Amino acid sequence: MKKQIERIYSRPARPGMVGDGFRVFNYFPNAELTQHRVSPFLLMDFNAEYDFGPSDHLRGVDVHPHKGFETVTIAYKGSVAHHDSTGNSGVINPGDVQWMTAGAGILHKEYHEKEFSKKGGPFEMIQLWVNLPAKNKLTNPQYQAITADQMGKVTLADNSGIVNVIAGTFNEQKGPATTFTPVNMFDIRLNNGGKLTTTIPVTHNTVLLVVNGEVTVNGEKAGQHDFVLFKNEGEEITISAEKGSVVLLLSGEPINEPIAQYGPFVMNTQRELQDAFQEFQSGKFGVLD
Ligand code: MN
Repeated sequence: MKKQIERIYSRPARPGMVGDGFRVFNYFPNAELTQHRVSPFLLMDFNAEYDFGPSDHLRGVDVHPHKGFETVTIAYKGSVAHHDSTGNSGVINPGDVQWMTAGAGILHKEYHEKEFSKKGGPFEMIQLWVNLPAKNKLTNPQYQAITADQMGKVTLADNSGIVNVIAGTFNEQKGPATTFTPVNMFDIRLNNGGKLTTTIPVTHNTVLLVVNGEVTVNGEKAGQHDFVLFKNEGEEITISAEKGSVVLLLSGEPINEPIAQYGPFVMNTQRELQDAFQEFQSGKFGVLD
């Protein structure tokens, strides 16, 4: 049975700035798309293609903490560098994904990579926040630097395009990301006239973003930057594109636990949030210049 579409949302009217390097449209959370409705996903910020222009100053977000969840950065265009308090650092280039488990607490900073900054050019990124179940919230911080060549690759029939499987399983092809709960994350690139069909478990919360182009999803049109929320009914999803299009498909088994959030901390109770804030203030998340 076809997975039913609950609603198609247009891109939010105005972007917001995260630091001075990320000009993002926030698709959720909001009053309708609550963190429970889209669980295990907590937040989606989309830096739709934008050229910040050449700069010697490295635009971005300075040192800040995270605790209790994971941040996933998907680079489509442009390059982002990062450093964290566990000593990890790296660059996320187009096609790469950084999957950072903040777990028990981490400090990091994220900014435009130096050479990219100097040249300027199109910048297109998505950052997702993925919740951790209570039993894993205090896991050791870690990250998975997944490069474009490591993605699970599915070449679609009839020159329809390709699917980069970041996490989960697309038509039997697994993705490289390790997740704490079942999550599918598919970077779909359809050619002119391309089409695919896949199935997502009925129990998963499922959403889709048209990063570029326009597609037909289970018979309904979704234009550039539209966001599709599926009902938890049915399993089959068919996507077709008349012109070249890029789609991000996300699904996951909901984590049915209380959510307590204060900015970059996402725990289960207010008490745990107070603890997180105190740990951050007393330097327990480490040091980062
Ligand atoms: Mn961050």
